[in-house]
Amino acid sequence: MERWTGRVAVVTGASSGIGAATARALAENGLRVVGVARRVEIVQNLSEQLKRENCKGELFAIQGDVKEEEEVKKVIAWTREKLGGVDILINNAGLAPMVSLLEFDLVAAKKIFDTNVHGLCLFTREAVKDMRSRGVDDGHIVHISSIAGHYLAEFKGTGPYSGSKHSVRVLTEALRRELRDAKTKIRVSSISPGLVDTEIFKASGFPEDMVESIHQNPITLKSKDIADAVIYVVSAPAHVQIHDIIIRPTGEA
Ligand code: NDP
Repeated sequence: MERWTGRVAVVTGASSGIGAATARALAENGLRVVGVARRVEIVQNLSEQLKRENCKGELFAIQGDVKEEEEVKKVIAWTREKLGGVDILINNAGLAPMVSLLEFDLVAAKKIFDTNVHGLCLFTREAVKDMRSRGVDDGHIVHISSIAGHYLAEFKGTGPYSGSKHSVRVLTEALRRELRDAKTKIRVSSISPGLVDTEIFKASGFPEDMVESIHQNPITLKSKDIADAVIYVVSAPAHVQIHDIIIRPTGEA
């Protein structure tokens, strides 16, 4: 990770779960990390906690909603003005409400795609623009996708979420090609986790008994498992581009 020491990573959805663990891991590896979330006070608390631990790097908490184009632009502009620009972008913010196709809820479905897909595209566009304008040729973009981007889970109402993550998988490929055709060496990777014990199920309005059974399920990953994978992906030598890693808890098949 030495080559990233002092450089800048933006992590979306840094207030909870995988995003918070990834922001911590990157800061512990010496990066200056911009943690974006709507609940910015939680990211601020983590930032202060890292300071108390004498963390090698630093975490800056910035409020932002990935669905809002102007807020996305502001986050990247702030990062450029205060920290010199973005070197690594972790597109992690996401949510997973259950939406039945037979009782289709357009508002909920739009929220899924605006967050998981369009928010990721907006952050990518602004970060790549910033990297290219500064001649950063070794930037890295990591998408936190899902096993639901590879197949349709047996969860009721998982169609639109799975559709959003299938989109992320295709968009990851498309972005890689566009960057290649634009003659940049910016790398694009995705990580596709199976079940991770986080707040996403509660935040997405799953019924309480289901949330409880997920928390009590002994076969789950922890957020740090995914953060470790992010560190592995961005630590690869510049000529190595990891396309996708599927990570599932042992016992999940
Ligand atoms: P959490 O609910 O724990 O965290 C989600 C994060 O996304 C929060 O920090 C939340 O912050 C942020 N977020 C949600 N909407 C927005 C928004 N509009 N703007 C900015 N930030 C937003 O979930 P996970 O850590 O589990 O999920 C992280 C990613 O991992 C998601 O993309 C998810 O699809 C993916 N994933 C999760 C799996 C799991 O089993 N948990 C499995 C596979 C993939 P705030 O509310 O403060 O804005």
